[in-house]
Order: sequence, then structure tokens, then C-alpha cells
Amino acid sequence: METSERKVGTSKRKVVLGRLASYNAPMPQKKTPAVTRKLKAPSKAKVLSKPKVAGKAKRVAKRKPVDAAAVREIFTRFQASNPEPKGELEHVNVFTLLVAVVLSAQATDSGVNKATRALFAIADTPQKMLALGEDKVRNYIKTIGLFRTKAKNVMALSQMLVDNYGGQVPHSREALETLPGVGRKTANVVLNMAFGEPTLAVDTHLFRLSNRIPLALGATPLAVELGLEKIIPAEFKHHAHHWLILHGRYICKARRPECYRCLINDLCTFPDKTIA
Ligand code: SF4
Repeated sequence: METSERKVGTSKRKVVLGRLASYNAPMPQKKTPAVTRKLKAPSKAKVLSKPKVAGKAKRVAKRKPVDAAAVREIFTRFQASNPEPKGELEHVNVFTLLVAVVLSAQATDSGVNKATRALFAIADTPQKMLALGEDKVRNYIKTIGLFRTKAKNVMALSQMLVDNYGGQVPHSREALETLPGVGRKTANVVLNMAFGEPTLAVDTHLFRLSNRIPLALGATPLAVELGLEKIIPAEFKHHAHHWLILHGRYICKARRPECYRCLINDLCTFPDKTIA
């Protein structure tokens, strides 16, 4: 992004938030009950459909991404400073990771963790979640935004896991994206953290950071994801999204990036860097 996020108006923020939401939007579900829905893999064209890039794309295209040597150096430094980055969503197994990520849409990790500690202590499998029932699940997560819809999704995805996957979380993007409340970003997080895949889940931090440095320029999260996939060296891909998310959360903040203490300050070409 060319201008400082401080200058970005409310309407532009809404556009970015809308693009992030649609990137992680679950597949449209048929109106039949979730428990009886047949799985249907999304078409390749749908998953990787070309993002809509209008005026914003022209603006971001004016800046040039850093070169391959700088990309390598950036990730070398991230790796040196934090060799084993970890996500901050608390979970005890793959199922609770999936549920935590579903609950984290438009919510903070710390807010989700506060609600899920007690929930996961008594319901750490789809079967236990179903036995608990929607009313009680909703009560556990009532401090999280959109909790009513999320409680319904947790119940429906638990039922689908039991009915179609023997209670296990499937190791497949296509299958994950058929689960209620699960979109591309959620599937990417689960594939990365649970199954060790080199996927990149583009959240608001990663989207901002990639366009600021810039690593991969893009007007949509999908464009950024596909751009990053092309330029990040293979040996850094598995941890790349955590390094970028943590850097965006604690250093390259939306309103006032802390460039004066940024370990890639000399490599980043963001024009509105802050000084102490
Ligand atoms: S120098 Fe500033 S804008 Fe660039 S990555 Fe670091 S914190 Fe972000």
C-alpha cells in the first residue's frame, strides 16, 4: 500500500475487511440440513479464480516488490530471530485447532483463547462437542463476535466430521472447505499447523505487511497469497505465515508501524516508515 494506514479512510478499511472476509468465506452451503449434505469438491477454477483487481491494483502496482535476494534475507532474519514461530490460538488437538480458527474470524486470538479454554477442557472431539449441544457451546463462546452463527457452524462441522470422516479432521483443502464456517484462510491455517503443509493464510496482518514491504503486491488476499507462494524460498514457506503475522501484530502495526525497532527496516521500502 502506498499511503500510510493512518491516512486510510473508513471506507477503504471496509473494502479491505470485505476482501479478507470473502477470502475466508466458506463455500456456499445448500439449504438441506448440514448432516445430510453431500460433499462436493470445489472446482479448481473456483478455488484459484482470478481475483478482481480494479483501481486498487493499479495503485499498488506502482511500487516494485523487493528483489529475490531481499526476500531471502528477510526470511533469513525472521528465522534467526524466531526459529520455531508458533500460532497464538490455544488448542489441544487438530479438531480444537479447527474450531479455534473458525471462532477466530473477526475476533482476536486472545479473546478466542479466553472462551475456548473451558470449552476445550470438556469438548475436545466432535463427538463431545455434539454431546454438549448447541446451547451450551453458544454459552461458552458468547464473548466472541458472531457467536450464534459460530456455535451453529461448530455443531454442523462436528456433525460432518463424525458422519463423513470418522470424527477426524481431513487432510485435504477441498474437504476442509466443505465444512461449515471454513474458508480458504481457515483451511490454510489447519493445513499448515496440523499437517505441516507450506500454506500461507493471509489475514489482515499478512495482507498489510506484504503490501507494505512490499513482498507480493495484491489488492485481494488471494492475490497476495498466490504472489507470496511464488517468491518465498521453499525452506521458509512452512513458517512464513507465522513470521509475517507475528511481525505484523507486534512490530508492523496497522496504525503506527514500529520501524525504528524493525529487524528488516533496511530491506523494507515502505515510504511512510516511522522513526522513534
Ligand atoms: S520497516 Fe516499518 S513498514 Fe517496513 S516492515 Fe518494518 S515495521 Fe513494517
